[in-house]
Amino acid sequence: MPNKDRDDIQLTGDVVIVGGGLAGLFCALKLAPRPVTVISAAPLGEGASTAWAQGGIAAAVADGDSAEAHAADTVAVGAGLVDETVALGLAREAAARVRDLLHYGVPFDRDLEGKLEVAREAAHSARRIVHVRGDMAGKAIISALIEAVRRTPSIRRIEGYAAEALLTRDGEVVGLQMRRVGDAAATPSTMASRAIVLATGGIGHLYAVTTNPVEASGLGLAIAARAGAVIADPEFVQFHPTAIMVGRDPAPLATEALRGEGAVLINDKGERFMQSRHALAELAPRDIVARGVFSEIAAGHGVLLDATGALGAHFAEKFPTVYASCIAAGIDPARQPIPVAPAAHYHMGGVAVDRHGRTSLKGLWAGGEVSSTGAHGANRLASNSLLEAVVYAARIADDIGGSIVEARVPSPAAPTTVQNSAMPALSETALRAMMTSRVGVIREGDQLAEAVRSFAAIERDASNIALRNMATSALLVATSAWARRESRGAHYRSDYPADQPALAHRTMTTLAAARDIAASLSERAHARPVQPIIA
Ligand SMILES: Cc1cc2nc3c(=O)[nH]c(=O)nc-3n(C[C@H](O)[C@H](O)[C@H](O)COP(=O)(O)OP(=O)(O)OC[C@H]3O[C@@H](n4cnc5c(N)ncnc54)[C@H](O)[C@@H]3O)c2cc1C
Repeated sequence: MPNKDRDDIQLTGDVVIVGGGLAGLFCALKLAPRPVTVISAAPLGEGASTAWAQGGIAAAVADGDSAEAHAADTVAVGAGLVDETVALGLAREAAARVRDLLHYGVPFDRDLEGKLEVAREAAHSARRIVHVRGDMAGKAIISALIEAVRRTPSIRRIEGYAAEALLTRDGEVVGLQMRRVGDAAATPSTMASRAIVLATGGIGHLYAVTTNPVEASGLGLAIAARAGAVIADPEFVQFHPTAIMVGRDPAPLATEALRGEGAVLINDKGERFMQSRHALAELAPRDIVARGVFSEIAAGHGVLLDATGALGAHFAEKFPTVYASCIAAGIDPARQPIPVAPAAHYHMGGVAVDRHGRTSLKGLWAGGEVSSTGAHGANRLASNSLLEAVVYAARIADDIGGSIVEARVPSPAAPTTVQNSAMPALSETALRAMMTSRVGVIREGDQLAEAVRSFAAIERDASNIALRNMATSALLVATSAWARRESRGAHYRSDYPADQPALAHRTMTTLAAARDIAASLSERAHARPVQPIIA
């Protein structure tokens, strides 16, 4: 049974994994029978992007495909910033990790000969997306892993608690501080540990328009940055071109696989507009399609995804999740086009890690979307993120298993900040709105500077710890976006629309560097007061 009550929690853990999505649960299973504690802000199966994944996992398992071809596609999409060794490593380990998932009970679709069935997705040169019942990959993966975790006695689960700070001693991470979710006034608990694995997912919910769950608010990224970890490529945020716009937050997703099956993008005049923008039209890299959709909407044309011709009556059977989202909103996608818009979807940046998943801080590893391995560069290739999560979770488990001896864990350190106020809803709304309008699909220097100053003020003044942590992550994204004076991959600057070959390198930054940028921007703007957005 999960431990829900603070008094029941034994406040030490040899290995503590923060996050109960694919990266966290896979790492816990790989570490078994070594005792681990998994802390998850939401009950397992909820509040994790993993559960919502519709496409599947990229793996070169089909006849005629190869790890080299998969790596080459990854590099091509990443706009000059993909670490080629990392990409090849991912592609080569894909088949073994898919076998692990089969072993844990994930029912990947097979063809009549019993071979894994593979689908095509944008910018992949081959059909290589291993999937489950059309668009059910995420649900199937997380359900199988939760079952496997429940069968594994070495895994202790603490659900409904959010990590809000890492505790350090002499630059080494020695524990964490957590608090019951939804109870800002609760006394925080601290947990000492010998090894902490951050697997807290992405930052999409920092944006007002997103496909990510509320738990993907960048809290994991923030606590690592506040502890002094090096953060890589925070400016690179992928916007999914086809979130379904039916007034829901987060917005449901119309998977890329729909376009792989022939669905087309049209404007409100019924015209296809992607053919004139890229040779691959709707199957161009995500950033190009997202900007195409964004520009069409900015020009006053609504955008619709039309699958009536390509799928028609087969829609419900092939894409049951998308179908259900549409029907719930009164749209029959077999007969009507679906209204769509770009939404914050995936963070290529994150806590910088090496090939073992080690961060720059001793005692801290990071895996899954919260990390930045160098595999995605400036733009992620579709369905490479679940792959990265399993490959690095397995490597982290190997590394911890091989390098951290089980021994008595030191007693917990004192909490960093005990006081906490209620989350001011207006401030959260304003922060998210500013991320979408100023740090979104198309960015510009002065607007980014305005966002930086606002986020720095919240980071400094917020008395709610979750809001402060959101502002920390927002500040990292906005300062790096301001500093990168070029357009590359998912990062597009209207004031610097071309890429600059001299800037073809990854960003490595820290919170201290981000605060320095904010301070210099505030000095420059001393004549223009910062718009306060704290309620
Ligand atoms: C709608 C959608 C569809 C997608 N489709 C695909 C796809 O088809 N293929 C693909 O490769 N990728 C896809 N992605 C991306 C992919 O799902 C994610 O990158 C991946 O699942 C991330 O896994 P993770 O384990 O790192 O994080 P998550 O699965 O998001 O799990 C994060 C966990 O951390 C917990 N958490 C967060 N903060 C805290 C905290 N402070 N304290 C404690 N716990 C915390 C959460 O509750 C959750 O349990 C999709 C994403 C979305 C949103």
